[in-house]
Amino acid sequence: MTYDLLIKNGKTIDGEKLEIAISEGKIVKTAVSIAEDAKEIIDLNGAAFISAGWIDDHVHCFEKMTLYYDFPDEIGVKKGVTTVIDAGTTGAENIHEFYDLAVQARTNVYALANISKWGIVEQDELADLSKIKEDLVRKVLQELPDFVIGIKARMSKTVIGENGITPLEMAKKIQKDNNNLPLMVHIGSAPPELDEILANMSEGDILTHCFNGKPNGILDKNTGKIKDFAWAAFKKGVVFDIGHGTDSFNFEVAETAFKEGMLAETISTDIYIRNRENGPVYDLATTMEKLRVVGYEWADILKKVTAAPAEKFHLNSKGQLKEGFDGDLTIFTIEEGQKTLTDSNGFTREAKELITPVKTIVGGVVYDN
Ligand code: ZN
Ligand code: ZN
Repeated sequence: MTYDLLIKNGKTIDGEKLEIAISEGKIVKTAVSIAEDAKEIIDLNGAAFISAGWIDDHVHCFEKMTLYYDFPDEIGVKKGVTTVIDAGTTGAENIHEFYDLAVQARTNVYALANISKWGIVEQDELADLSKIKEDLVRKVLQELPDFVIGIKARMSKTVIGENGITPLEMAKKIQKDNNNLPLMVHIGSAPPELDEILANMSEGDILTHCFNGKPNGILDKNTGKIKDFAWAAFKKGVVFDIGHGTDSFNFEVAETAFKEGMLAETISTDIYIRNRENGPVYDLATTMEKLRVVGYEWADILKKVTAAPAEKFHLNSKGQLKEGFDGDLTIFTIEEGQKTLTDSNGFTREAKELITPVKTIVGGVVYDN
């Protein structure tokens, strides 16, 4: 047996020795030691960790847009991320154009269709309800089933105009009529009020920007506690997703939630070119370091960028280091160091543990970081 690719002398985040063989783009063997030969061998000499390929479930990477855009590989394989999910940059009218570019990337790219048919061409895409066309959404779900894996609704003041909770009700109907597909909801300033948004969300729905520092967020600044209705949503199974972004991650909110036992289920960046180049996002690794500073364990952080997003977005062949899964791996180091991390509101924390991707492997193809 000669494999296409063999990773020797790696280790899991728990410190166990691990070797992995990949052939024809799939993981074909994982073991403490693999003796057979391979066309390409990477020997990590016990110096680096291996995880399933990192999945960033909230990005903006359709380069033809002007408000929020980036290039998939700049936020993907170059940053240790094997899979990105574009969160509603495009809608039914322009998602095909996005797809034609996305398939050329080395990074795996998926999309959530914005329920507004042109996506985020303008900031207020849900201010005009005539842009929400269920039949058009259904059509792209049928035309691009391996690309469009869910829908997105941005439910905050600047987006919805005078429409209140109505766009979310329409999104829920589209979801219900289409096999209960994943729905991601963005939150921000009111209206709509967060308690009304959460009351309309169900188990498995993804709440992105969960730890934003705005008054319409989950933290009651008067009591210093997480609001009761946020806890109720968390307990009913609404998926809390980081979606850091330029404006939507606050250390105090994340820390208060952590102390109360409310941890995000998925860790994502909401990255696009400006918050990548100028911060405060930079990349997924930096967002992971922020959650480490908040108190999350590394093993848990890694689960939240691999198995958890794969499960929540039904990417059934991704997110795990198991035979038969896609040959997507991230090889990385964790070292002691010193780095000042800044949240979306300019508050800082000092990181003492730094995570650095060194190789990104997509379908058995190796990219150096
Ligand atoms: Zn958003
Ligand atoms: Zn976003």
